Order: sequence, then C-alpha cells, then structure tokens
Amino acid sequence: MLKVSVALATGIIMLCGASTGPAQKLDFLATGAPLKAAPADKEIAAAIRAASPAKIHQNIETLVNFKNRMTTSSMETDLPAGTGVLAAAEYIKAQFEAISKDCGGCLEVKEDVFIQPASSAPGSRITRDTKLVNIYAILKGTDPAQSKRMYLVTGHYDTRVIDMTNTHDFAPGANDDTSGTAVSMECARILSKRKFPATIIFATVPGEEQGLNGSAHLAKLAKKEGWDLEGVLNNDIVGGNTTPGETHQSKTRVRVFSESVPQNATVDEMKRLILYGNESDTPSRELAREVLDVSRTYFPTVGVAVPPASIKPVMEMRLDRYGRGGDHRSFNEEGFAGIRFTEWREDYHHQHQDVRTEGGIEYGDLLKFDDFDYIAKVARMNAATLATMASAPGAPKSATMSARNQDNNSVMKFTVPDGAPGDTWYQVVWRETDASDWQYGAKSSLYDDKVEAATHTITVPISKDNVFFGIRSCDTKGHCSAAVAPAPEVPVRNGPRPARS
Ligand SMILES: [Zn+2]
Repeated sequence: MLKVSVALATGIIMLCGASTGPAQKLDFLATGAPLKAAPADKEIAAAIRAASPAKIHQNIETLVNFKNRMTTSSMETDLPAGTGVLAAAEYIKAQFEAISKDCGGCLEVKEDVFIQPASSAPGSRITRDTKLVNIYAILKGTDPAQSKRMYLVTGHYDTRVIDMTNTHDFAPGANDDTSGTAVSMECARILSKRKFPATIIFATVPGEEQGLNGSAHLAKLAKKEGWDLEGVLNNDIVGGNTTPGETHQSKTRVRVFSESVPQNATVDEMKRLILYGNESDTPSRELAREVLDVSRTYFPTVGVAVPPASIKPVMEMRLDRYGRGGDHRSFNEEGFAGIRFTEWREDYHHQHQDVRTEGGIEYGDLLKFDDFDYIAKVARMNAATLATMASAPGAPKSATMSARNQDNNSVMKFTVPDGAPGDTWYQVVWRETDASDWQYGAKSSLYDDKVEAATHTITVPISKDNVFFGIRSCDTKGHCSAAVAPAPEVPVRNGPRPARS
C-alpha cells in the first residue's frame, strides 16, 4: 500500500513539478494517495446482477391493482375485496414470506401494527384513529459478534390522490412510492441468497403521505429497542419517470439527499458543527459518501463511457427537496443516519394527482410512466451499499482529533468497533475543505498507528485546517464502513460562546 501510494504520489508530483521548478511535495500526496475504487466483491457483483426489472414490474403492477392505498383506507368497511392499503400490506408480507421460504427461512418477517390517533391539529391528515401496518423482514447477520449492527432499506407503500380524504378512487402511486417499495422487496430477494456478518432489514411503511407516520413509529421502535442501526436508505420516487416530451430526464443519475446538521442536534451541538465547519461531516452525509464510494466499485464511470446498465449517485447536500419530506427524516429525528434516493427529474403531473386528462395533459401516477430498468439500477445501488456495509466491520467509535496544538499535524484517536475481526484495518480519508467527496486516503498504519486498549492514535502530517478527515474500518477483502468524522477537541475557551442575554 505504501509503495503504491508513494508511486502514485510521485507520478503526480513530477507532472506538477515540470513547470514550477523543483518538485514540490504537496502534503496530501506525500502522505497518501488519490482515493481509488475498492475491488469488487464477486458475491456482491453476482447478487446485484440478479436484480430483475421483470420482478420489479410484477410487484409494482400488483400494488397498483389494489386501486387505492390511501393510509386511511384501513378503516373503511365498504371497500371491494382485494383493494385498499391493508390488502396491499398482506401482499407485501406474503412476498417477504415467499422470499424467506426460498432461502430456507433466512428472513424473520415482522409487522409493526399500531393505531395512529386522530388529530384535530390544523392540517392534520389523520382525522380518526387509524390502523397502520409497517412490514419488515430481517436478514440476521451470521457473525454473532457483529449481528447486532443493522442497515435498513425502506420505501412507502401508501399513496394518495388530490383529496386527502379520498379512500376509494384510483390512486395508482406507481412511482410514489411503489417504486421504492419494490426496491426494498427486490433487495430482500437478491440479498437473502447471500450471507453477511451484520444484519440487513428490508422495510416498507404506510402513512408517509399523512405525515411520515409509519416511519416515525418504526424509527421510535428502533430507538426504544436499542437497535444498533448504522444506516437507513429511503427510496421514494425512484421510478425514472418516462413521460413523452421530457427530454431532460437522466436514466444514469439518481439523487442522494442527506441532512447536514442533524435534525435532533442540540443548540450546542449545532454551534460546534458550524464553528468548526463540520456541518457537512455528519453521519447522514458520511452515509451518502459511502453510496458514492460503493458506486465507484460497482458502477464505474471514470475513464469509461457510461454503459447503459450503469448509474451514478449525485449527492444533493440537503435533507430533501424544497417543500417536501420523506421517511429518512423520521430516522434522522431519532438520531439515526438516513438518506433518500429520488429520480433525477420528477413529473409533478404524476404525483398526488387524480387520474385524468385535462388540457391535453395526462395526470396521475400511472404504471406506464415507470422505467423498470431504471428502478432495477437503483435497487442494485441500494443492494451493493447494504451488502458492502453489512460485510465491512462497523465504523470506528469515539473518533476525535486534537485541535489543542498549533501545528501542521493532525492527531486523531478512535476506538475499535464492536466485534471487529482481528484483521480489520483502518483507512484515513480526507478532502480539501471546498470538496464534497473524499479525495485522498491511506492506511492508518502509515501514521505510526499506536494501539492501546483498543484505542488507536495516529498522527497525520497534514494541517487539520486545510482538510476534512474521516476514518473508516475495512476488512481484508476491501469492504469499508462509512467514514466517521473525528470530533475536534479544542480548549473550552475556544468553544462555542454562550448565548448572549
Ligand atoms: Zn413519496
């Protein structure tokens, strides 16, 4: 690793040095190397190749045929058989159970059933006590030392038309959000055939359109039960919207939204993040970068023409789209890292609409506007990310960086994650402060890595003021956790100022 790093660095330095006199060793390159894609894991590559546009089509079409999946339809007594949100829930549960049967009972299929109480608050979309059913299937990790650690993928299976009280008219929701529901189900199908040291949960929830009620209940359950949930991937509107006349849609891009300052941060925590410029290194943002990192391996776009089967995640550095919300937010509010996948360009004639043609425009979230090849690509990206994180050791714990000394070194400490195999290695990654994604990396062993009682101390000879650092845990096959940003340790007198009175 060291030789490769130095060789790479030297090559670049010589190029730079040609016109500037004696070669100058830029500290970033002298001490690390440009970050490269990790090697592909053959098992993960085979799993994601198995994602099937035909299977996704079948699941979406079946869900659309439940006619109206408005969350509040669960309380109606006059719905025709085989329609409504509860019929859809039964179908999803049966699909998870069938997937489990195919893998010898590898999934534990669970329901989280609850009553969302009526609210008379202005704008409330739950006006009578309403039954909601979250459905999730657990693929338990195979390593007892690591199986407590979890990663979750979710989508919402409820939908709506214009009138939030309409529980009977056709509300297909083929994109919003049977596409995301189908991603969870397809991830379950293709990943259940493999084994991972950590646990993966495949979830679908209702209540999104009423105020994120299903995901809020699941996130609170996760917190109450103490789930060691390291990442939540929410897929909402990933249908690829194929509308005639839409010429700017991209079928090789998917947006990845992530919060900066955590939704549950205290005022003091917010002040610290802003004071030290760490607002773009929060756990959700590092999870988004993990998607980019995994995609460099499984969906390469650098140096080659983008093949039709490829897809590029584009990091959108905000919680969600303007004026819109999604289920990842429920998990963020409980303190979990969570991000949202959404197609490149949405068509608002096809969201939350009554199915109709008006003024020559076709309204409604219809099956014919979905692109099942695109949804399969998004499912592959989710599956590759889940599989990589569940194969890698957990992220380093208690990472800190001393900012007490005025020097050009960066001294960092971190603790070995629970259950990490003995051959786990750690990678320091960094980027310049105006960059959005990691640029450089090196093994921690390059930096006089001292280990004492499971705590590593390293000294990187780069000024902490010029870069943002992250630290990741990796296994011998090259699966790496999401990075964690070391929290700066500064003298109290240099910390956030108290509020002025
Ligand atoms: Zn949605």
